[in-house]
Amino acid sequence: MRRLILSDIHGNLEALEAVSNDARGRYDEVVCCGDIVGYGASPHEAIVWMQRSGASIVRGNHDRAAWEPGVRESFTPSARTAAAWCAQVLGEEDLAWLRALPPGPIWRDDFGLVHGSPDDEDAYLEYTTDLRGIDQLLQRRVCFLGHTHVQGGWQWQPGGIRLLPVPAPEEPECVVELDPDSLILINPGSVGQPRDYDPRAAYAIWDATQGLLSYRRVAYDIDSAQRRIVAAGLPHSLAHRLAIGR
Ligand code: ZN
Repeated sequence: MRRLILSDIHGNLEALEAVSNDARGRYDEVVCCGDIVGYGASPHEAIVWMQRSGASIVRGNHDRAAWEPGVRESFTPSARTAAAWCAQVLGEEDLAWLRALPPGPIWRDDFGLVHGSPDDEDAYLEYTTDLRGIDQLLQRRVCFLGHTHVQGGWQWQPGGIRLLPVPAPEEPECVVELDPDSLILINPGSVGQPRDYDPRAAYAIWDATQGLLSYRRVAYDIDSAQRRIVAAGLPHSLAHRLAIGR
């Protein structure tokens, strides 16, 4: 069983299509760690893609902000503007679909799925120091998360927590052989708004049978995504950050 792991698409259709093309034929099932909408100019198209994929999905804070205005209060001004725009342009059916997305964690047969952290969907697990006590909360050996927009992950092994390697800026892929006895937390990175200084769209493929994880990066038409953000009247800063990957 090979799974395509996606997170933080944020209405970036150009990035989502590039990932979809790059991953074609490499997976059997889709898993999504949330934030399908927010920031980008194509929230409806991202929702349609997700619906067609039959993915296992947990909601992200931006998915919630589209239908629950109170969530936006903790957002930056540009994120708040984008969430309000999203609520305006999405139809009732799309908003109802977002409202029905489950909060994490979801524990499936052989993996777990959260947006932020197993005990708080809005918490950021970015540094090894953020992981205190998290291993106690993992009900599956492998768990996927998003929210930070930083590709990476950790493996609890004898001697300590090992940081999983990700592709170098000039490499499309980094394949990791997962230890079958260790707890593993995997962030595929952000499809639509990477914040790890690599502007390429990020995703991962997990081959449970082989015990292999591929972190992948793919270039996409950033110019087009930026032009459409500006044309939609969204803050220019949301277009600018796509080019620097932060
Ligand atoms: Zn996000």
